[in-house]
Amino acid sequence: MASALRTTALIVAAGRGLRAGQDGLAKQYRPFAGKPVLAWSLDVFLCHPRITDVLVVIHPDDTDLYSEVVADFPPLPGPAIGGQTRQESVLNGLQHLSDMPPDQVLIHDAARPFVTDQLITHVCECIDEATGAVPARAVVETLKRSVSGVITDTVDRTDLFAVQTPQGFPFQRLLAAHRLAAKSVKTFTDDASVFEHAEGKVILVDGDRQNIKLTTQDDFTYAEAQLLTTANKARTEFRTGQGFDVHRFEAGDHVTLCGVEIPHSQTLAGHSDADVALHALTDAILGALGDGDIGTHYPPSDLTWKGADSRIFLQGAAEKVRDSNARLTHLDLIIICEAPKIGPHRDAMIASIADMIDLDPGRISVKATTSERLGFTGREEGIAAMAIATIERDMS
Ligand code: MG
Repeated sequence: MASALRTTALIVAAGRGLRAGQDGLAKQYRPFAGKPVLAWSLDVFLCHPRITDVLVVIHPDDTDLYSEVVADFPPLPGPAIGGQTRQESVLNGLQHLSDMPPDQVLIHDAARPFVTDQLITHVCECIDEATGAVPARAVVETLKRSVSGVITDTVDRTDLFAVQTPQGFPFQRLLAAHRLAAKSVKTFTDDASVFEHAEGKVILVDGDRQNIKLTTQDDFTYAEAQLLTTANKARTEFRTGQGFDVHRFEAGDHVTLCGVEIPHSQTLAGHSDADVALHALTDAILGALGDGDIGTHYPPSDLTWKGADSRIFLQGAAEKVRDSNARLTHLDLIIICEAPKIGPHRDAMIASIADMIDLDPGRISVKATTSERLGFTGREEGIAAMAIATIERDMS
């Protein structure tokens, strides 16, 4: 369906919902992780590009509470005033919209603050002129029927689904279905059942595990803890650092690159073992940490490092990463030389780095290039190496 369709989100917030037990305050107005429960859904629907407008259905006693919540939002239509049951409240909301009817309507329970953009999009995409769409998850638990705490029956869960909101429908058909249902003696607990009662077709779309309904105090406690975990994850940041190093050739018979000895007609000159690749990697990691460079920590003037195995530099930098509550997520190295050929040793180099700093080889990239015989590397006067390190740092 084209996005030019007008889609209204009708948020049902008219219930008393006192089971979550906070001295008479209905759960949709209870503070939850920093703002009222209702504000969470409002935020998501108001920012969604497919949603044209949002109407909230409230309890007649809650006008002040409602005004407080929406004071922080752009002006909203309504609110509509709810009835005795959820079914009546939705009908009131739909009737409120009938003067300027939208094409589609999504009915959402205010007590589901975790509704996501993706779920809204998914539901909208599945509605057509005759079809409603409802998010649902297959029931995985074994279901029992019991009388006074004693099991009387095990219910076959094949084909059973637990439905969520938002439930989406073509507006006029849902309004007609609700008007019909109002004449029935049956009570309907969701809009899909109202639509089904009017012989409308409703399809199931994949629900979202996180999209729970806050009902009991337990739900509030659990969901708040979940949110905090997510917020903490959001407080990790990624940083990158770059490193560059050059060592010149001198007379010798091998070079050491990433700790791997490679036979060659010359060797690399340097204060340590001249492992140009490990030096570039070390500087990249120190760069990501914003903690100086290899020369600051291992000054060439200090004889301790003379002829040193360069793995201690890389290991030292990796240690600093751990000490700053961070993780190395990726290393990307490029070695620039005409000779020796790097390709045949690439896997050994990756394994060597992985082993040195206990990093998954899948997080290490070793590449090589020549400089087309140009410049000092082209003239085989030395080897250059460049590296980028990425770290993930926990900011909480
Ligand atoms: Mg160096």
